[in-house]
Amino acid sequence: SQFTVEDVIEFIEENDVKFIRLAFCDLYGIQKNISIMPGELRSAFEKGINFDSFLINGYEKIENQDLFLKPDPDTLHILPWRPQSGRVVRLYCDIVLADGTPFAYDYRHFLKDTLKECENEGFNTRMGLKSEFYLFKTDEEDNSTNIPFDNGSYFDVAPNDKGENIRREICLTLEEIGIKPQSSHHERGPGQNEIDFMPDDVLTTADNFVTYKNVVENIAARNGVFASFDPMPLEDKPGNGLHIKMANYKKGENLQITDKEFSESFIAGILNRMRDITLFLNCRKDSYNRFGITEAPKYITWSSQNNSRLLRVPEINGHSEHFILRSPDSCINPYLASAIVIQAGLAGVRNKEQLPPPLDINSRLLTEDRTANLATLPLTIEDAIECASNSEFINNSNFKDIATHYIETIKSRV
Ligand code: GLU
Ligand code: MG
Repeated sequence: SQFTVEDVIEFIEENDVKFIRLAFCDLYGIQKNISIMPGELRSAFEKGINFDSFLINGYEKIENQDLFLKPDPDTLHILPWRPQSGRVVRLYCDIVLADGTPFAYDYRHFLKDTLKECENEGFNTRMGLKSEFYLFKTDEEDNSTNIPFDNGSYFDVAPNDKGENIRREICLTLEEIGIKPQSSHHERGPGQNEIDFMPDDVLTTADNFVTYKNVVENIAARNGVFASFDPMPLEDKPGNGLHIKMANYKKGENLQITDKEFSESFIAGILNRMRDITLFLNCRKDSYNRFGITEAPKYITWSSQNNSRLLRVPEINGHSEHFILRSPDSCINPYLASAIVIQAGLAGVRNKEQLPPPLDINSRLLTEDRTANLATLPLTIEDAIECASNSEFINNSNFKDIATHYIETIKSRV
């Protein structure tokens, strides 16, 4: 790790920090936190800070309820939107039991274990994200309406695009926290925006995604509008996707360039398990209203040639550097979602699975006779629950326990 406990304590002392937010996610990827005073920090690192998991969405059925938050020193950041004297910092936490061992249903821990598995197989994964959200006008009580902030559409400029200053503020704030946005634009829907991120190691990207959503929501609120990451906030308009961009590396070399066999098996592993893992990438009932609407995927196909597939392997200068999975939406737990995608890829590599032929036809031009034989994603949450529950991939895996707990929790809430 980059920073030691001593580094963090020194930083707190030297930077006029008065509040330390210990943050983690509930099952739905919604950030939770407790603010401790600097005097508590050493004890937090040594013993952890106790919290009542019974009150956290998704953990209420866990018997072992005395859980502790243990901050990860590598995740230290000042929150630039809080006062700059008597500052506030935030650290993401691992969840542990009273004896210090990891809590079995901590998704951040599951991701770390998954990344260790990759390391043992001799490679590492990097992930970038493309995240869409709507901006809505608010009413006198500051609640969201369903009236979009503007009537702009894809790639529009001001004055049609009213989001430019908000996106600007979001990108500059993210940079201040060390998150690297790559580009931003007005999306196709009215009031719909997108921000894309540079790839980073998967754990950092998952942490950053939690921060990013929080930044977008806060900056939108500060500007008197409401940001919605809901998969389908307006019935007859494009949904909000979260496209996951991934590549695998061995000793710094991009395997998508240097090891075609490995890369194709990794991608095949994901495609072949798409029905098993969709519940982990789309966990709300309305997630399923998005599939097949405008550019959101529906069929389990891939292509290097066009933008409308479930999985894209874009070719630039005759070779591809990453793949993009386009079905997830932003209402995920990013640790769980990225871990399960990597697990599916790993399984494909271990079984030496072969990539089916691409479907290089734009989905907007697909006629019914072309789609009749194509497998689809699960098209309702009930369907996704069934696919996940009956999945041999999941039931024969070493993460069966954590996955089953997740499936059961979602099921009990549908
Ligand atoms: N909004 C579309 C979705 O729900 C994606 C549009 C795009 O490809 O940028 O996934
Ligand atoms: Mg987009």
